[in-house]
Parts: sequence; C-alpha cells; structure tokens
Amino acid sequence: MVLFKMLNRGVFAEINGVVSTGKEANVYHATNPAGEELAIKVYKTSILVFKDRDRYVVGDSRFQRYCKSNPRKMVKMWAEKELRNLARLHAAGVRAPQPLQLRMHVLAMQFLGSGGVAAPRLRDAGLPPARMRQAYGEMVLLIRTMYQKCRLVHADLSEYNVLVHQNELWIIDVSQSVEPDHPRAFDFLREDCLHVNDYFRRQGVATLTVKELFDFAVDPAVTDDNLDDTMDALMQLAAGRPIDTSSAPDSSVADAVWAQAFIPKKLDEVANHERDHARLQAGEPVEGIYYQALAGMKADMSGARTLPLALEIAEEKVG
Ligand code: ADP
Ligand code: MG
Repeated sequence: MVLFKMLNRGVFAEINGVVSTGKEANVYHATNPAGEELAIKVYKTSILVFKDRDRYVVGDSRFQRYCKSNPRKMVKMWAEKELRNLARLHAAGVRAPQPLQLRMHVLAMQFLGSGGVAAPRLRDAGLPPARMRQAYGEMVLLIRTMYQKCRLVHADLSEYNVLVHQNELWIIDVSQSVEPDHPRAFDFLREDCLHVNDYFRRQGVATLTVKELFDFAVDPAVTDDNLDDTMDALMQLAAGRPIDTSSAPDSSVADAVWAQAFIPKKLDEVANHERDHARLQAGEPVEGIYYQALAGMKADMSGARTLPLALEIAEEKVG
C-alpha cells in the first residue's frame, strides 16, 4: 500500500529489482519519472527481529515516545530515525545517501551505483592496497566527523555498511545510530572503532589501537587548524607498528583491558578524580583512568590540553 501511494504520487515511476534482502529491511532499486535512480528501503514489521534493537533506542532523547508494544509504530520510528540520521550526515558533508521521502516504514533515498547496479560494499570492492590504506585514514576521520559534527555514533559501522561509490566511501545503514549522550554511546563507539580496525588490519593496513582511534574521535582539542597535523601524527604512529593480519581482535593487552573498562560520560560518573589525579601525579600506572582525552586533559591530568592528545604523544616521543 505504501509503495502504491509513492508510485501514485510520483516519488518513483518504476520499481525494479531487489538490491538486498536483510533481516530488518529490504532494499529495492527504483527510478523516478525523471529517470533518476532511487533506493527504496522497506523496514520489516516483524516483532522478533526488532526486539533486540531496544538497546539503541532506549535512552535516546529523540525517541522517548518509542512504543515497544506496537510493532508498526516501532518500525516507523526506525525508518524515521534513519531519515533523520542520514539528513545529519548529509548536512555535515559526510557522504551518505540523500534521504528523499519517508512514508510509514518506507524510505526513498539516493541510489548509490549506476545502471541499476548497486555500489559494492567496502568488503566486496576489492580496493588496491594503496587505496585501502588511504581508506583507513578516511574512516578514522569519518568516525570523528560523525561524532563531532553530526553528533552521531554509527553503532553498526563495518565493511558491510560502507559502500564504495565512484571510488569514494559512503556511509549507509544509520537507523540504529545514537547521539553521544545515549547511555551506551561509548560502548557503541568503541565497537565501531574495533570493527573498523579489525577489518583494515586483516587487509594488511597498519592501524591505530582501538583506544587511539576512540580518543581521536572524542578529543575536544582537535580543531580545524590542527586536524591535518593530528592525522599525520596518528598515521605515522600506525605506520611505525608491525602489521598483524591475523583475524584475532586487537591483541595488545592494554587495549584488551581498555575494551572492558568503564568510560565515564560525565564528570559526576568519575568515582574519585582527586585520587586519579594524585595517582597520575605520583607516576603510578594509568590503567583504569581513561577520560583524559574525552575531558580535554593532559595524560597525567596536570591540566587542560591545548594540543590534541595524539600530538602531545608525538611531541613527547621527539623530545
Ligand atoms: P540492513 O543492513 O539493515 O539490511 P542496509 O541499509 O545496510 O540495511 O542496506 C542493505 C544493503 O542494501 C546494503 O548492504 C547495500 O548493498 C544496499 N543499499 C542500501 N542502501 C543503498 C543505497 N542508497 N544505494 C545502493 N545500495 C544500497
Ligand atoms: Mg547493513
């Protein structure tokens, strides 16, 4: 019914093949009366699949009216969330399909691809090694831009939800993305960083640690002026490391500890910052104290940073 209404209203003139059938949605290729190609994403109304999506919505201030008992309202909200998140990416200049039209649980958006053939996912695009290395840097920056400029954590970022269209990386599938103030935003961000790192490492790219990537994304001291230097410092840091293409997740012990650690979102979630400060000043190990980057503080918490954490670390190495 929704598709018929869209057809009648001229959103599209013709609906062609299926691009993808997924657990949660089907994507179709369509053309509008002007002959332009569209992607039509139809969210599935089955209750079972959407049940475990609660974790993304509960706690998002934009979706307080989320109604668990009504699956139709629920999927409608998912479609609406995707539209709003795509619009945010678009507004910030992040490459993502332009949302065009939403009706109930059906979203029409810009089609990535041409001649009815969808752009490949990053995992299928077969990028040559040099382009792959470059793509890693672009993904690192994209994670930060989404967080800082769009105020979004993708929350399902991987080689499956990035398309390579006209040799550029495009972000898709953002219905589950959350704002930084979502109670689990940092867990999702950490997972995104982990998945991106794992994928590129398996492709033979020298990657950052998950913590370095996370800290770069949230560091308030990175500005438009020092961004290029910071990126250079980070990529040099990564390039100086041996590449481990094993599929094992990030193997360094410090990273493994960090992956389990609690990262406070607000200062009142920090149990005892005076004690943390004293420990760091006394030169004790910093394990367990992970909010310096986020809070814009120096690694030893001796004061506020004017430089991005990555640049401070690079300078220490030189000096
Ligand atoms: P889900 O993973 O929830 O099923 P996605 O939004 O990831 O939904 O879309 C599924 C697949 O459909 C993608 O992997 C991609 O191949 C294709 N796809 C999605 N959006 C577009 C688009 N705008 N243009 C071309 N292909 C698309
Ligand atoms: Mg997907």
